[in-house]
Amino acid sequence: MKSDIEIAREAQKRPISDIAARLGLGPLDFLPYGHDKAKITHEFIAGLAGRPQGRLVLVTAINPTPAGEGKTTTTVGLGDGLNRIGKRATICIREASLGPNFGMKGGAAGGGMAQIVPMEDMNLHFTGDFHAITSAHNLLSAMIDNHIYWGNALRIDPRRIAWRRVMDMNDRVLRQTVVALGGPPNGYPRETGFDITVASEVMAILCLASDLADLQERLGRIVIGYTIDRQPITARDIGADGAMTVLLRDALQPNLVQTLENNPALVHGGPFANIAHGCNSIMATRTALALSDYVVTEAGFGADLGAEKFLDIKCRLGGLAPAAVVLVATVRALKMNGGVARADLGQENVAALRAGCANLGRHIENLQIYGAPVVVAINHFTSDTAAEIAALQDYCADHGVQAVLCRHWAEGSAGAVDLARQVVTLCEQAADFTLLYPDELSLSDKIETVCKRIYRAEAVEFLPHVRDQLQVWQAAGHGHLPVCLAKTQYSFSADPTALGAPTGFSVPVREVRLAAGAGFVVAICGDIMTMPGLPREPAALRIGLDDQGRIEGLF
Ligand code: ADP
Ligand code: MG
Repeated sequence: MKSDIEIAREAQKRPISDIAARLGLGPLDFLPYGHDKAKITHEFIAGLAGRPQGRLVLVTAINPTPAGEGKTTTTVGLGDGLNRIGKRATICIREASLGPNFGMKGGAAGGGMAQIVPMEDMNLHFTGDFHAITSAHNLLSAMIDNHIYWGNALRIDPRRIAWRRVMDMNDRVLRQTVVALGGPPNGYPRETGFDITVASEVMAILCLASDLADLQERLGRIVIGYTIDRQPITARDIGADGAMTVLLRDALQPNLVQTLENNPALVHGGPFANIAHGCNSIMATRTALALSDYVVTEAGFGADLGAEKFLDIKCRLGGLAPAAVVLVATVRALKMNGGVARADLGQENVAALRAGCANLGRHIENLQIYGAPVVVAINHFTSDTAAEIAALQDYCADHGVQAVLCRHWAEGSAGAVDLARQVVTLCEQAADFTLLYPDELSLSDKIETVCKRIYRAEAVEFLPHVRDQLQVWQAAGHGHLPVCLAKTQYSFSADPTALGAPTGFSVPVREVRLAAGAGFVVAICGDIMTMPGLPREPAALRIGLDDQGRIEGLF
């Protein structure tokens, strides 16, 4: 099998105007970014109000392992599969963060015969959205320090500024910094630091905003820090919301690209799936729903983090409801959950697979809480054996869900036809979508609900300052917000080594952060990195141009 980049390079792409036309867009309804990328205009999107909506299909997965699950690959394969059986389907996924591509190998555009193209662009600068987000974020940072420099009329406490700076590169030395060294002309020295762009609240806001007016409203609500008297200061107080909106105007328009099979894909936004909600933009999802019969979208990490946030944050805030949920599992990852070491994954081990299925079973039960019908997609790897696949299908049958074997990675849409048919069948069923908790529940009870019902924690430990802080926000009128839990993606618990379906654990809530603009409260349960570093041998060492000027070593 060729590498992802070799397959992508051979893609027979159609002009992006053809893809736009298939969605019913006229020549002025999109802004071409070269031959193979475009943005759908704000004007066109505004005109979609009241159109009938397609069916929303969420693709999520068991807890990730280094063995790989293939959520994006399955999202693309299913989208192509639905088109192959004659349905009008659009794929909605996140944009890639540029920085990590130079660290660990692995793209964000799918894999094998189920990819989105142009994949090099998508994994690098794409249409400049991340640049716009970085700039808008840092404009606010600069305006805060500038406000203090020119007399600090708002009485900002420089020790209590929560707003940091961002950039889209893995650079650990910037995690903690001291700024404004060098004397009075440079401002007031203070401690701060950098996060990666995908961790910016501006990113989460862009992904949850419903239009430009809502974007500005949300940007204005960002709490940047506190006054000497501990009163919150917002981006609107600083006067930055208007200019930030200007910087983000183009970026808020969803990006249109295509799959290897020339089906439409909207690739837009890329919030972290730990300290943010981890799915693509509401603008893109809504646009796709108005333009197609089926929209297939992905949520980051495993279903405990990604699907929970997709449902309880994105669907809640965007008024969306999935018609079906696809839970991706691989034999390899289930064997790892069952205790097999990575080096031994190539050998058949039905007993370990059965043991690892406890992880899958818990995700199935969790998704059933929300009321949307579930199907398990077995993303087939060539090392899977017939006995392992049969054992996995038996396990799912015992749990009342179908497990469909999929070969889209090797075969493209032809390998996802069975899954597509099953998804269509599920979408015809009457789904009774319910959220996990109501808006009215207190912030601490919301956190407990997620920990106990989804993670199955026995107890939740709130540090004393966390309880106090939640009470302050509750009293200040933020109690109606949903919660966004940041914990390890590898386990249901806060311990990344506890694979499978751990029980008897307690979840520590160490810190809480208010994302008043995005519209959620982040609860940090464990060590969460918001500025990654590069590994000892970064992928950048192998990335370069070949003698024909083509990119090598990216994937
Ligand atoms: P996720 O979205 O869950 O992080 P991706 O879909 O991005 O996962 O896939 C991660 C990697 O695994 C990609 O490089 C992809 O090519 C590879 N991959 C996915 N499915 C398969 C498969 N069935 N066989 C071999 N490799 C696969
Ligand atoms: Mg993915």
